[in-house]
Amino acid sequence: MTKSKGHALLPFKSFAVILMIIAAATFSGCVQSESSLSSSSPATQTPSPKSSQTVRPLMAAATTTPAATPAISATPQATNDTATQQASLEAATSSALAPNAKQNIALMENLEWTFGGKQQRGWRIYVPLISLLIETEAGADTNEFAAILARWQKSAGLAPSGVLDNSTLSAMVSTWQSRRSRNRAAAESAQIITAPPSDFYDPSRPDELRQVDRATHEAYKRMVAAAIAERSLNLAATPNGELAPKERFLKIVSAYRSRAYQEKLRREQPDAGRAALAVNNSPHFTGRALDIYVGGEPVETKDPNRLIQVGTPHYRWLIRNAARFGFHPYFYEPWHWEYKPQQ
Ligand SMILES: [Zn+2]
Repeated sequence: MTKSKGHALLPFKSFAVILMIIAAATFSGCVQSESSLSSSSPATQTPSPKSSQTVRPLMAAATTTPAATPAISATPQATNDTATQQASLEAATSSALAPNAKQNIALMENLEWTFGGKQQRGWRIYVPLISLLIETEAGADTNEFAAILARWQKSAGLAPSGVLDNSTLSAMVSTWQSRRSRNRAAAESAQIITAPPSDFYDPSRPDELRQVDRATHEAYKRMVAAAIAERSLNLAATPNGELAPKERFLKIVSAYRSRAYQEKLRREQPDAGRAALAVNNSPHFTGRALDIYVGGEPVETKDPNRLIQVGTPHYRWLIRNAARFGFHPYFYEPWHWEYKPQQ
């Protein structure tokens, strides 16, 4: 009897546990990134009125998809409201966020900013990295994106406007840049190996242009093996598990570059700009930076080319998986990856 009673209670216990999980997720910011919100501060807070006049602050709630994520309400009691009240709250939220999403649609193409001494326009190229950073799958033109962006802004100490403006993009760029290696010391010859031609996008490259740091090369091979195992990428492989000669994706375009070679590249491409070819401080001097083929023209910084690259499944796979193998992206160059394993 007691036993069967225990069984009968089980579904209710499970339900209670699920409710507790939902409540915890709601108030601790389940989509939070590295600089987490304190769990004691509710994820929703009316932003201070000093947030930019052109930016409409988020109101109370922070989601338009209550089925996937519980709606964050103005007061905790609101979760007990009737379905009708809940629906009207969500309708209000949706309309409150619409102007923010509208601004994001425009800024995605038009935001003017500067990087590497060059004028930049819009942030569409960086949407895959942005989505990963703020942890959302929602399209950058949606109200949900604006809501989740607002949470990230709050965690980054910015006004939670839900609009991806200059200060927000600047904070994102700082975050990405901080994950890169600061060590630019030239590789020592003992650490450098000559990788086989089959690892390269252009297998005819001479020996001296196929040099790479040994540990970086080993990590690269482990990463490529994992990518080959990912069937959705459809990478052509040899029977012994290497990228096939006809495969171009994920092959190395360039690795270790000596100072002399970097200067030669610079002379040949005077318009490349500081962002593209660092002459005094290139991470390629270390032998731990790899340019990897992710589509389009291999290493061309023009926006339309980079837009093609960030849309390939190979790039999308790298930004989600490369860190497991110690590789970190350079946000501005979809092909450029730096080996910086966890200490
Ligand atoms: Zn590079």
